[in-house]
Amino acid sequence: MEECIFCKIIKGEIPSFKVYEDDNAFAFEDINPISQGHTLVIPKRHTQDLWEIPEEDLAAVHSASKKIIQAIKDVLNPTGVACLQLNGRGVNQVVMHYHLHLIPRASGEPELPVSSWELKQGDMEAIKQTAEKIAAAIG
Ligand code: AMP
Ligand code: ZN
Repeated sequence: MEECIFCKIIKGEIPSFKVYEDDNAFAFEDINPISQGHTLVIPKRHTQDLWEIPEEDLAAVHSASKKIIQAIKDVLNPTGVACLQLNGRGVNQVVMHYHLHLIPRASGEPELPVSSWELKQGDMEAIKQTAEKIAAAIG
């Protein structure tokens, strides 16, 4: 996977603002931040998305994110932090190396677009049918 930009960041072939690294996870600042402290947490092993990622790497990314979100809280004192993870081009995943966004919202700043959608009650029968199909498909 030579051309993957995040693999190159892990290898130090292109620069990044690294905040954390352990055996299986790596974290650095997003260079197009939605807010101050917008951080990306990735597995060191290349894997595309939540469908592909091995559970061990998923656990490593989320364990790392717990340490990082604590540091974000200590340093930036945000009112909240949104965790966002996109899977597939259809939801605008641009970099095809699994990554978890940690997006703080500073006090007094506008709501984050990723956390402020309007609630509209759904069709309960349709929701029930979908739930039953998904539940039945879980192996
Ligand atoms: P997405 O795939 O839509 O979840 O988002 C990919 C994210 O990676 C975007 O927020 C970009 O700003 C970020 N990004 C892309 N290239 C780099 C880079 N070289 N260093 C840091 N962040 C990057
Ligand atoms: Zn990669």
